[in-house]
Amino acid sequence: MSSLITTAVPEGTLQQQATSINKEHTTCCYCGVGCGVTATIQNNQVIAVQGREDHPANFGRLCVKGSSLHQTQHSPERLLRPRVHNQEVSWEQALSYSARSFQDIISKYGPDSVAFYLSGQLLTEDYYVANKLIKGFIGTANVDTNSRLCMASAVVSHKRAFGSDVVPGCYEDLEKTDVLILVGSNAAYAHPVTFQRIAKAKQERPHLKIVVLDPRRTATCDIADIHIPLAPGSDAYFFNGLLSYLAQHNYCDAHYIAEHTQGFEAALSAAQKQVNNIHAAAAACDASVDLIAEVYRLFAQNKKVVTLFSQGINQSSSGVDKGNAIINCHLATGKIGKEGACPFSITGQPNAMGGREVGGLANQLAAHMGFDDQADIDRVAQFWQAPNMAQTEGLKAVDMFKAIDEGKIKAIWIMATNPVVSMPDADFVKQALQKCELVMVSEVIADTDTAKAAHVLLPATGWGEKNGTVTNSERCISLQKGFLPPAGEAKHDWQIISLFAQKMGFKGFDYLHTIDIFKEHAALSALNNTRKQTPARAFDISAMADITLKQYSNLLPIQWPVNQANPNGTQRLFSTGSFFTPSGKANFIAITARLPVLQAQRNEVIMNTGRIRDQWHTMSRTGTAPHLLAHTQEPYVDIHPQDARQLNLLEGQLVELGNRGARYIGRVKINAAQRAGEIFAPMHWNAKYASSARADALVNPFVDPICGQPEFKHTPVSIVRHNTQWTGFLVTTKNHEPQCDYWAKITVQKGYVFRVAGVQSIAFDHWLKQQYPEVEQWQELQDSQGEYYRAAGFVASALVVVFNANQGHIGPTESRWLNDQLGESIEDGVRYSILAGNTGCDDEDQGAVVCACYQVGTNTINRKIRSGCQSAEALGQVLKCGTNCGSCIPELNAMIQACRSTGV
Ligand code: SF4
Repeated sequence: MSSLITTAVPEGTLQQQATSINKEHTTCCYCGVGCGVTATIQNNQVIAVQGREDHPANFGRLCVKGSSLHQTQHSPERLLRPRVHNQEVSWEQALSYSARSFQDIISKYGPDSVAFYLSGQLLTEDYYVANKLIKGFIGTANVDTNSRLCMASAVVSHKRAFGSDVVPGCYEDLEKTDVLILVGSNAAYAHPVTFQRIAKAKQERPHLKIVVLDPRRTATCDIADIHIPLAPGSDAYFFNGLLSYLAQHNYCDAHYIAEHTQGFEAALSAAQKQVNNIHAAAAACDASVDLIAEVYRLFAQNKKVVTLFSQGINQSSSGVDKGNAIINCHLATGKIGKEGACPFSITGQPNAMGGREVGGLANQLAAHMGFDDQADIDRVAQFWQAPNMAQTEGLKAVDMFKAIDEGKIKAIWIMATNPVVSMPDADFVKQALQKCELVMVSEVIADTDTAKAAHVLLPATGWGEKNGTVTNSERCISLQKGFLPPAGEAKHDWQIISLFAQKMGFKGFDYLHTIDIFKEHAALSALNNTRKQTPARAFDISAMADITLKQYSNLLPIQWPVNQANPNGTQRLFSTGSFFTPSGKANFIAITARLPVLQAQRNEVIMNTGRIRDQWHTMSRTGTAPHLLAHTQEPYVDIHPQDARQLNLLEGQLVELGNRGARYIGRVKINAAQRAGEIFAPMHWNAKYASSARADALVNPFVDPICGQPEFKHTPVSIVRHNTQWTGFLVTTKNHEPQCDYWAKITVQKGYVFRVAGVQSIAFDHWLKQQYPEVEQWQELQDSQGEYYRAAGFVASALVVVFNANQGHIGPTESRWLNDQLGESIEDGVRYSILAGNTGCDDEDQGAVVCACYQVGTNTINRKIRSGCQSAEALGQVLKCGTNCGSCIPELNAMIQACRSTGV
């Protein structure tokens, strides 16, 4: 049985030390790269962050999001106290109410009438306790996570091929390989530090060939030798074609196939049946025969090849098969388990891997055990002393929200995630939650789109406050340290779950510190986990089951398995050619490639969704840092020039996308990096930052039938020019939603800037005064025809709003100088300079920000390029741009290239 260790020092002891200047090692809370961070703390404030030099994920680097962690620390939007039905209550009241409501629902409708929806942002210890409570004690496996949206396909690909959900390689392989194929990955934006490592390796070893397979020419292509803009969703055709090519040209490793794999003939036959030569591959992928031949040759003729795959593969209705089509090629050539040779799935979220370890998905049990083996179910039940062990898989994310809509699930607890923005068909999810009897939300931020639907809102601690471990994409476990006191009355997620469990009357949740949970998790990974020389389950951290508090508090990053055989961790797996299948051999999987569920109809284009450079997920944290919204300030749509011409769209106009009643309005960016007929829309914007830009509301809820991951990368949508009649901007101290058809907000140092537009002509002065009834004095300027209007509003002589608008679809020019005047007392005599948007001095207009770290704009950079700076390094020397996190280097290179080709 589980032995709960209760001798550890109570949580919070570490936090009380943070009174003078000190440094703490921790881990970034954003993406799956999992960078080590050194935080400098003074008087309970993080005053600076640096990349941790000795962390194997980043060796001192941080991207712009990581290096801004301290700037997002003190959000005015923090949730500080529990709320029930919008009333602030005590923890005792909130938890009693929640537990009683859960119990009532379960007693009336059974355990399958409740559900948890978790997050890859949770720490492993939080995840472990949530999974234990619902699967072992409440008695249902209705627990899924936003990781379903991120890497569920890769999980199943790994299990089918290797017998276990294992990433075989490590980040070092990306540097030591001779051929790196990035497929479905815009690493430059989604995994910036990994991208910087690859870029450096390429600089040091120019013979390292980099191939990008992506329908879009993304920033990642900046370092690519070859980019193939293959048709969206055609990846499995590409890799089936590669397998056929390898066999046809005798590049398969017959010895490796015979000794270490099974199922080769069937996989090859399926591949050949579909794509039996390069021409067939080129036709299926709508790509150049020569480029495909070149990439196939590179794969075949080099021993060291890494295929790095990410959301472009996973977020598909056939993502599992795509993953296996990739793995098949590596198995056929023995390019796995060796330095610089492996298939490598990189995850989006910081702790997607930790969630997989504890079984945070509806179809998993803890510690890599599963529902398909009764012995596993019994083993976990016994270990937990679980009174109501779930016996079958639960509902995966899309089905879970459908069940809520159908009234089958009556209570849901959502932790650390925002499904009203991030789920496919997000408007449906919003409506489903509105129908649900009990919605509990544990959150750091008070009014996320999902929190608005909550009956019970529970304040959770955030980065810097909470303590626990995360596991990154290369299986590396790192400590995310708690060194600040919780904001307000916030509690750690594991504490909230444990207290709730106790309220429900369950034993086994009397943890005092995350080390208690971690040790239990490590002990469970060891349970009956031996078979011959090979562990029966890949996830094994048994060597950490007796970790001391001192060791845990100073945990150095370590890659699992961590067991008797590998007490210092394991950099690479499968080096002996032994896998976690019953036979010990890896499985080839016969793949019949499939295209996405729907193709575009007349008047439709294919929408692809993804990340932008400086934002994370649904912006609830990164949206609060002014300089993280300086680079990309509004939702937008990348569109090919040919499509723009046909649709009569101009750069900077607003365009409207639609699907099943959902709308997305964004600025047109004409971009030849798109394929014709395909557009790109970022997935970050939520209803707090824009009127109509929740891109995932347009995404169809089609899922991969094996793993349940939705098809985010391929949605046919309608597209029309927005019927803009007037447009303008508001610079204001007030955080409110302007009443007009379109608005998008950014945070600036002293307030907010809203871009606004309307579909009906208005009297500007009347409209403005309705929005700002509190203004005491107005300074206005307008022409006699009512074409242009400028106004500044003051309360007690302090500037509270500037509005500048005109008729038509091209808005007035903005000035960053205005942002700094907010809240300032402005004398009568100089109020006209506010309307003019400047001081009258000839301040240089920097243009849109390119380098977020040093706030360097396009105009400044272009001026330097024209005056002779012809490389990113040269620009960095004079302007510092690109010299901190390096995320803007691809854009700097593109600007230099554009300047060369246009001569402007
Ligand atoms: Fe954080 Fe950036 Fe590192 Fe990702 S790449 S973990 S966001 S610092």
